[in-house]
Amino acid sequence: MRHSKPLPPPTILFRIRVIIGLLLGLRCHDFRAARTFASTQWPDATWLAKLRKFLIWAWRQVWFDLPDIMRDIRFSRPVSRVPFWLAEGNPLANHPWCQNPRATLPEETDTVAIGCGLAGSAMAYHWATCAPAQRQLIVLEMDDVASGSAGRNEGLIVMGRYYHMVYITVLKHLPMARPDLNQDDHELLARQFAAAYCSGCYRNADLIETTIRKEGFECDYAREGWVQARDENEQMSLQESVHMALESGFDDWTSITPEQVEQLSGMQVRHNAGFSLAAATFHPAKWCWSLVQRALERDSFELYSQTKVVRVEDRGEYYLVRTRRGDIRARHVVNCTESYTALLHRQFSGLMRPTQTQAATGSGGPESLKPFMGISGTNGFFGRHGNAVIVGSDATWVPDYQAGRIQPSRFLTKFCSAQLKKFYGRFDYQINNEWSGTVTYTPDEFPVVGTMDGKRQYIIGGMAGSGSAVGFNGARCIVNRILGRNQEPDDFPPEYFSPTRLLDPTRHSWPKLQAGKSIRKAPHPAAREV
Ligand SMILES: Cc1cc2nc3c(=O)[nH]c(=O)nc-3n(C[C@H](O)[C@H](O)[C@H](O)COP(=O)(O)OP(=O)(O)OC[C@H]3O[C@@H](n4cnc5c(N)ncnc54)[C@H](O)[C@@H]3O)c2cc1C
Repeated sequence: MRHSKPLPPPTILFRIRVIIGLLLGLRCHDFRAARTFASTQWPDATWLAKLRKFLIWAWRQVWFDLPDIMRDIRFSRPVSRVPFWLAEGNPLANHPWCQNPRATLPEETDTVAIGCGLAGSAMAYHWATCAPAQRQLIVLEMDDVASGSAGRNEGLIVMGRYYHMVYITVLKHLPMARPDLNQDDHELLARQFAAAYCSGCYRNADLIETTIRKEGFECDYAREGWVQARDENEQMSLQESVHMALESGFDDWTSITPEQVEQLSGMQVRHNAGFSLAAATFHPAKWCWSLVQRALERDSFELYSQTKVVRVEDRGEYYLVRTRRGDIRARHVVNCTESYTALLHRQFSGLMRPTQTQAATGSGGPESLKPFMGISGTNGFFGRHGNAVIVGSDATWVPDYQAGRIQPSRFLTKFCSAQLKKFYGRFDYQINNEWSGTVTYTPDEFPVVGTMDGKRQYIIGGMAGSGSAVGFNGARCIVNRILGRNQEPDDFPPEYFSPTRLLDPTRHSWPKLQAGKSIRKAPHPAAREV
């Protein structure tokens, strides 16, 4: 319900009660998240200046914004830590043990994929639709299908991180990876990386749509775009990024006026916002379940959940995949383990860093919040799915061993709710579910899709919180390589996507510089006028 009347300011007693509640609720992660916040808000300030600015900001939050929002939001007792998408149960829970407790793992197979989130379910689907029956894929999942970030996310199918963003992150990293090149060459190479990334992501989004329509998957799919608010200081960089997107031909990324923002999302802003035209929303867990259920109809695919892989040993002709339920010999292995990867393959520690993000859902929320729309404020995301409103934020590195832990910060949930109010005005909101997950950032924030040992062990990961933009197409390309199918385009050329780029940059075969070559693409067909 929307409140029309403004309330008088909260009393001093109420403010003090809110502050005590916040202090009592602080956990270790709140301090880590505070550090992330300070570094992203004031990247160029000294540590002392960051601390000073942060304390002023924190004071405003605890004395003004949070007491204000705390009059309108309530927390269920208890708030469930089950992610909203999984709250109604998992149709593939404990598969196949639930129905067949005596089942045993096969001793040998063609290919094992480890992990069954967005990437692992996509492996299952592509394999089952392309492989001959005698070639077998086994997916091993230590928990249940979509129990990792795939079942804990915001529910957006993104067109990827837009061209300019990829260009900037790769450009920052290139002086370390390619000290032999000059600044101009770094810029050129960063552009090539951005183009390679966007090509793969654009096809990925279309493949998802085609698959949902062709298979008739019921996963609440809607393609309405994604609005991203930008404050006054970010207007220049927004203009620059839109210009670069247009110039490169990856024209999904545009800028819209405050009036258009309100019309599309209900959000009230004072400045232009970024807009991804062809982003979509879906129920991410239903998407994974649908892919795996379709794959299970074929003899070439088997799923074993609640089966943790503890080691992968290279035995020359085959890999020995060691699990808590027994060992499997496999000719190929595909790691779809994302933020958990360094726990299985130590060489990725520090190169695929688990980064915590969190979300909460509740009933109520602003009436004007438009459903089926990707919506980001300046410090968090929001959305409406049926009767539930989702809010979330954070991107804080956590140690490898904390990958996948559910440890949301209550402070952040309150902060995100206050952000929602900033853009939508007052509303009632009852928070029922609150959770966190970990996504993975590589040092250049560019994904890794390809072989990790130069042989037959592959990885699909490092998707920087945009797994819906990479995993489906990435899995298609890896399946094609393993099956020796070369009739389809491969969007993940090793010179860009191979993990050797991170593991051994001096021996990596870097792409040739394409000086003067145009990388313009045709406009995206899903792009529509706003
Ligand atoms: C709060 C939040 C919001 C997000 N919002 C979005 C969004 O809107 N759009 C978007 O594109 N992305 C979003 N993301 C990121 C997105 O969810 C991830 O990029 C995506 O889930 C990655 O897919 P994945 O299959 O690689 O990894 P995961 O989904 O994490 O799957 C990895 C799987 O591997 C399993 N596993 C790990 N180790 C082992 C082992 N040793 N043995 C067996 N199994 C193992 C895990 O149990 C897990 O199920 C968000 C993430 C979070 C946390």
